[in-house]
Amino acid sequence: MIYDASRLPLPLRLSADLVVIGSGAGGMPVATLCAEAGLSVVVLEAGGFVPPDAMNQREERMLPELLLDSGGQVTVDKAVRIHQGRAVGGSTVHNINLCKRIPDQILREWQRTRGLEHLPLQRWAALYDEVEQTIQVSAVPRARWNRHNRILEAGCNALGWPGGGLSHNRTGCIGSGFCELGCAYDAKNNACKVFLPRLVAAGGQVLSRVRATRVLTEGGRAVGVDAVAVDPVDGHPLGSVSLTAPRVCVSASATDTPALLLRSGLPDPGGETGQHLRVHPALIAAGIFEEPVRAWQGIPQTYECTELLDFSAAAGGGDKPGSRIWIVPAFAHPMGTATMLPGYGKAHRESMQRYDHMRHVARPDGGAGQRVR
Ligand SMILES: Cc1cc2nc3c(=O)[nH]c(=O)nc-3n(C[C@H](O)[C@H](O)[C@H](O)COP(=O)(O)OP(=O)(O)OC[C@H]3O[C@@H](n4cnc5c(N)ncnc54)[C@H](O)[C@@H]3O)c2cc1C
Ligand code: SF4
Repeated sequence: MIYDASRLPLPLRLSADLVVIGSGAGGMPVATLCAEAGLSVVVLEAGGFVPPDAMNQREERMLPELLLDSGGQVTVDKAVRIHQGRAVGGSTVHNINLCKRIPDQILREWQRTRGLEHLPLQRWAALYDEVEQTIQVSAVPRARWNRHNRILEAGCNALGWPGGGLSHNRTGCIGSGFCELGCAYDAKNNACKVFLPRLVAAGGQVLSRVRATRVLTEGGRAVGVDAVAVDPVDGHPLGSVSLTAPRVCVSASATDTPALLLRSGLPDPGGETGQHLRVHPALIAAGIFEEPVRAWQGIPQTYECTELLDFSAAAGGGDKPGSRIWIVPAFAHPMGTATMLPGYGKAHRESMQRYDHMRHVARPDGGAGQRVR
């Protein structure tokens, strides 16, 4: 069952064999497989549950429903905006469904520097095969690339730069272009579509609008979780939710997982918790074309340019500056575009009036990311 804890009588006390904190790409599969293996599982999710028929494709409604801080979260120095999901399904609800394998050079580097000798390349490949089958990853046929993506392809062809089509996990996609606001057509093979029905069928419980505040331990072992039910509008605590469990899985995203571990005072012999956050900041380049582009129509991000993407440095083969730049089409809906466009007043309005002629490319770091504090 899926419950909205903000509507339940509080305080709430529950017990389970396993508590999973966070219901995104990491947490939902763990919860599902453990429930199917016979454990009683409770998933705590800070965000709400938004089914496809409640997704209305409006930025002002969907961004607060699906994204942490409505998509406005930034680093302490305000230099980098960090988008993260906050809903049942986590960031898989609003992400773009683009599926790529980690390059072999990066895997080799991790083997060498991160103690992952027990995960040889063939093992990764087998795991990828399994995941890609589960979430039905396939190449997006060229006939379905929109004009926005084809312009990048044409640019690459003109320059002789390498590029190619991308693979996605979507089935039944009608190409509405609203992926980042949640799919009203349930075409994204995300955590909610692929795993949530299995989890519920196996008896798993999802408590939405519950924020875990502390993992509890006794004698060095997890014994439960302290949490609060939160208000759907402003996130304020409404009452306590206490769970007793001999196993706790913290899968609350790259930022909240270390924060929760540190807040809980869990043992950290290596002292590395919270020290290695990496993001891939995206630099946006935009152009206004004579012909309409209508970049919001169709499947986003189906073509990549790999001219500046080179992982040889990771494999110990040199350190060419700028070699980890990945060029992909990126587009924002009107509100998002308006916040990113420079200028104000009349000039800004005139730019927005050319919205249907705009195209953007993002140049994120294409590998293990930039380290941030
Ligand atoms: C705009 C955007 C587009 C993306 N596009 C792609 C793409 O095309 N392809 C791709 O591979 N990746 C993409 N990603 C990245 C991908 O979605 C994430 O890497 C992935 O979802 C991370 O999984 P996760 O389980 O670590 O965290 P998430 O999926 O973010 O889930 C974490 C969950 O934990 C919850 N949570 C956090 N703290 C607590 C707490 N204290 N108590 C309870 N719950 C808590 C959060 O609310 C959230 O729902 C995109 C991300 C964004 C933001
Ligand atoms: S483009 Fe496809 S996956 Fe994205 S919102 Fe539209 S129908 Fe859903």
